[in-house]
Amino acid sequence: MLAGKSLLLTAGPTWEAIDPVRGITNHSSGKMGYSLARAAGDLGIRVTLISGPVCLTPLSGIETIRIQSALDMYDAVHRVLSKQAIDIFIGVAAVADYRPLEIHAQKIKKSTQELSLRLVKNPDIVASVAALKNGRPYTVGFAAETQDIERYARSKLQAKNLDMIIANDVSEVGVGFGAEQNRIMMITQQQTITPPKGAKSDLSAAILKHISKQLTP
Ligand code: C5P
Repeated sequence: MLAGKSLLLTAGPTWEAIDPVRGITNHSSGKMGYSLARAAGDLGIRVTLISGPVCLTPLSGIETIRIQSALDMYDAVHRVLSKQAIDIFIGVAAVADYRPLEIHAQKIKKSTQELSLRLVKNPDIVASVAALKNGRPYTVGFAAETQDIERYARSKLQAKNLDMIIANDVSEVGVGFGAEQNRIMMITQQQTITPPKGAKSDLSAAILKHISKQLTP
């Protein structure tokens, strides 16, 4: 049912440089985002994938834009949105909340016992997409939580003005970050659906099916 629609999605972590050899990142493997991109491509959806630094095999037939930082990801997302009509946006990326205020041009030398890094907040990419006045796609976010999953995810759904949020429990061993399996909740204003724990590829199909139902009730 989604065949012919256009999907923009972000995946993986971001890399916030401190100096030419160091940076701040996180454990996101990109597997969930890549799995969704693959599943969508296989359904005949036109997919553009914006990927942070991951160690995954590039997806054949999927237009992929590789970026490093959250600011790069923000720019790439809005460049695509300004050039083409996008029906669905899914923010799967684990975007760094903060970046170093300055990027040192040279490798920082070790000298003092203490070293402070000043961090500044990154823009919220999925919220910026959901706030678009023109050409706003159906906007889906992800929420990695360790407790009170549904309540925290639902408050992010409201705060970011999303159409759907996919929550996952990152405290459970063997699922979530880096794993092949995931346990998710699909949350909209009206309902919460909890599919059984499963392979990221199966859950990707379930997510796309649920989005399809929301778009064509
Ligand atoms: O607020 P939190 O980081 O938990 O929200 C997660 C959701 O927000 C994900 O969909 C993630 O891709 C998105 N996000 C974003 N830009 C940020 C932070 C998070 O798009 N700076």
